[in-house]
Amino acid sequence: MPSDVSEHDGSTAPDGTPWWELSIQPGTQNKRFGQERRLAAWLWFKKNVGDTFTMRELRAALGPDIADSSEHLNRRLRELRKCDWVIPSQRNDATLAHDEYRLEVKGGKLWIDSERAKYERFAPSARVRRLVMDRDGSRCRVCGLGVDDTYPEDGASVRLTIGHLVPQERLRSRGAKDDMENWRVECSRCNETMRDEVPDPEQYDEVLAGLKRLTSKEAGELLNWMRKGERPRSKVDQAYDRARRLAHRDRAALIEHLAKRVGETS
Ligand SMILES: [Zn+2]
Repeated sequence: MPSDVSEHDGSTAPDGTPWWELSIQPGTQNKRFGQERRLAAWLWFKKNVGDTFTMRELRAALGPDIADSSEHLNRRLRELRKCDWVIPSQRNDATLAHDEYRLEVKGGKLWIDSERAKYERFAPSARVRRLVMDRDGSRCRVCGLGVDDTYPEDGASVRLTIGHLVPQERLRSRGAKDDMENWRVECSRCNETMRDEVPDPEQYDEVLAGLKRLTSKEAGELLNWMRKGERPRSKVDQAYDRARRLAHRDRAALIEHLAKRVGETS
């Protein structure tokens, strides 16, 4: 046991190994001890609130068996943020250097089983996921983008997930994970728990400037979407969703039909 670790501060597992150096969960044969649990313990015992740290430091502290990619460690940090840890990066705080993070709030003590259980995600069953996907037409209820779409801001493909309308804490106490009304389709960028994947946030003034081009009817529509936090598909959108799935020949016939209907002469 390293000499800088006190025996009585709770920083070590029953066998005396610091939590952040554990690879196998205590009391099991070969169940891996989660990396986010090690990360939480290291930050808790080795850093003070207000301290900064880097990916390089994390890798050095957690040892060679921790995955080497920054993306992987970033995902672990996101896990921590879901458990009440506040750890801004340069993305949220421009005073931080690239690859630098600040420990602002210490959250759940994830290395302790009973503490970790408090943050267990409550997920819908596979059957409910399918039903929710069908009900919402495989489209994000928040932004309206579908599975075949790309994000207008950077052209990346849309990934869909099931998000919860009812807060997780209430879901847990209610045990109603299979109630369809608790869930909706969200894309990964609109999903609350993954929201830090969103590229650069917008500036209020710039968004406001863009609104000048809207008619008052359009502004009213936007007001509705903002209040609901959802973008409902219009009748035209819904018709387009279906029309796009027509076979090639039928699509051509429909274009002809529409041209006549709006009075275009060919
Ligand atoms: Zn979305």
